Amino acid sequence: MQTVIPAQPATLIPVVGTDAAFPVRRIYCVGRNYAEHAKEMGFSGREDPFFFSKPADAILYIPEGDTGEMPYPPKTSDLHHEIELVVALGKGGRDLSVEEAAACVYGYAVGLDMTRRDLQGVAKKQGRPWEVGKAFDHGAPMGPIYPVERTGVIDKADITLEVNGTLRQKGCVSQMIWNIAESISYLSGLFELKAGDLIFTGTPEGVGAVVPGDLMVGAVQGVGELKVKLVA
Ligand code: MN
Repeated sequence: MQTVIPAQPATLIPVVGTDAAFPVRRIYCVGRNYAEHAKEMGFSGREDPFFFSKPADAILYIPEGDTGEMPYPPKTSDLHHEIELVVALGKGGRDLSVEEAAACVYGYAVGLDMTRRDLQGVAKKQGRPWEVGKAFDHGAPMGPIYPVERTGVIDKADITLEVNGTLRQKGCVSQMIWNIAESISYLSGLFELKAGDLIFTGTPEGVGAVVPGDLMVGAVQGVGELKVKLVA
């Protein structure tokens, strides 16, 4: 059937080592998944996992080696970086066991869960949803997807973020409170997961503000580097 307005094309993320792309369905994000980050946000670090979403068209894809430009978003004066390992699902399901969940991983990418911390803070205080703090346009910069056949299972990689050459965040994927398979398993009890879903798996400690002109360089060992410049 014809559409009365142009249909929105799928968000496509190129896959390393192929000429093909990964079509994104949904983006789920795990909140406070590293103990030291949970503590810096004022929590004990021992709660059950929880999740929020970003729209697929919030992705700002940046080819590896390039420096992408992210426009500074409106209505904030406290934009924070959160460097994260992104997991891409090649299949899904409901109520997956941890073992079944592990088998859903298609690949990995480096991503930034950019956050309007001031708006998120107001939402938290007022018991409102986090959308305005998290789900804004260009709020999910990410690099290409590395298939798991190429990387092996990522469970011990270093994860880092530098801003203007200064190290701001450094952790190890092994420090996740809920590891990747556990997060997928838990999430599949809340939503039916499908091929094409992405999961931002949480950030280590050291989140902080960035301003126009800042250059963020994020990396996950084995999954490449992501370079993003903030522009006014
Ligand atoms: Mn996050």
